[in-house]
Amino acid sequence: MSKYKKKIVIVGSGVAGINAALKLVDNGYPGNLITMIDMGKDPYNRLPSEVMCGFAGAGAWSDGKLTYHTAIGGQLSKYCGEDKAMELMDQVITNFKRFHPKPEEVQCSNPVAEPDFIKPHFGLRLFPVWHVGTDYLLEIAKNWYSYLVDNGVEFVWETKVTDINFSKQILRFNDPNMLCIYDELIFGVGKSGIDFGKQLAEKYDLPTEPKSVQIGVRFEAPQHHFQKLIDVSYDFKLYRKFEDKGVSLRSFCTNNNAAYVAVEETYGNYSYNGHAKKDEKYRNDMTNFGIIMEVNGIEDPFTWSRDLVKMLQIDNKGLYYSPSRTPSLTSEGGHVEATQINEVVMDEVREAFEGYFKYIDSFIDGMKEIFPTLKDDWGMYIPEVKYLSPEPLVDYANLALTRYPNVHFVGDALSARGITVSGAQGIYVAEDILKSN
Ligand SMILES: Cc1cc2nc3c(=O)[nH]c(=O)nc-3n(C[C@H](O)[C@H](O)[C@H](O)COP(=O)(O)OP(=O)(O)OC[C@H]3O[C@@H](n4cnc5c(N)ncnc54)[C@H](O)[C@@H]3O)c2cc1C
Repeated sequence: MSKYKKKIVIVGSGVAGINAALKLVDNGYPGNLITMIDMGKDPYNRLPSEVMCGFAGAGAWSDGKLTYHTAIGGQLSKYCGEDKAMELMDQVITNFKRFHPKPEEVQCSNPVAEPDFIKPHFGLRLFPVWHVGTDYLLEIAKNWYSYLVDNGVEFVWETKVTDINFSKQILRFNDPNMLCIYDELIFGVGKSGIDFGKQLAEKYDLPTEPKSVQIGVRFEAPQHHFQKLIDVSYDFKLYRKFEDKGVSLRSFCTNNNAAYVAVEETYGNYSYNGHAKKDEKYRNDMTNFGIIMEVNGIEDPFTWSRDLVKMLQIDNKGLYYSPSRTPSLTSEGGHVEATQINEVVMDEVREAFEGYFKYIDSFIDGMKEIFPTLKDDWGMYIPEVKYLSPEPLVDYANLALTRYPNVHFVGDALSARGITVSGAQGIYVAEDILKSN
């Protein structure tokens, strides 16, 4: 007879949830005591258009890049230390290889040295990435799912959890006739469940970790200016720190070759992001990336960012500033929607940033030094923003809410921002459940 008795419910069968379930069954936890509930579909019925929901969550339709560094992909080492974090990430990568139809094709790229020409203006984040291959993710998901089903794990599909009573340990659903009781709850609803997480945080007045402001611009210029760095690192991440000011900046999400700036509409305002097309017919030889500034120490960072984004709208659009260029074209051939501003209005933008824009100006000046052909041949779309959801305060030993020790938050619903860290957090919690049972 199994020594394990507690009923574990996992809300969200995303990357974090399926890594947790795998760790549990691999270590003898009876599958019939594990229930996974997801508002999406199983990997056989999930459509490619269902990007965020279903088995393996947002990871199933992702780029399949497994980053392997504790400074990338969200918080992990702060809970468990560097060594344990790396060991957990190893487990996630092993799991993806284990269910991969051709594991030998999983390759690691690992740039090792910062090129001299970027010094002393910038550092370059160097980190290994395992490339699983987007095309294989669905096969991996099917194999993983079959293994969990064969081990008795119960799945409840197309069912949205709408409320949780942490005191009575009861889940409620979109179907009011359903309810579910748990002993241990793993809450891994990812980005698609961000509002639900917020709703619970407000309802239970959950204490949260202080967060930083993350705001900046989407920078764009012809690719040839950056080519010598792209040759070293395709998705280069330049960074600069002003530690005494609580500010750090990084280039973020670099797109090359067929690179387009995209409008993002969040809370009714424009901000910008970028994407790259694979098809050669879209090649425009442009590069774009975010210059994202992290500012610590601002009280209520969410409201500060929201108010700033509202100020950065003219004619119901975001802004475009360039010393020489006009907004570029989208992949559909229209202009990227933005109101072009001159130097005078740009000074008002600087004022709206309450003095912080000087760090972005100096980042751009640094780039002009290391990419000498860049000069005035660039433009920036303002703003690019990452609204960080409040991170519930958890016990670092098991990621459980400080007031509800049987409720564990994992993945993007907690503090992750990528596959490896989300999976690692799921495994970390599963290990604690195995130990404490
Ligand atoms: C297009 C795209 C590309 C990406 N590419 C990469 C990449 O290459 N590398 C990388 O590291 N990261 C990438 N990411 C991010 C990565 O996919 C996520 O960080 C990761 O999937 C988070 O895992 P998670 O388990 O926390 O949440 P998810 O994987 O998002 O899973 C959450 C699950 O919870 C379910 N859910 C939500 N709310 C409820 C509810 N109320 N009731 C029931 N179920 C619910 C959802 O249906 C979903 O299946 C990408 C993301 C996207 C969208």
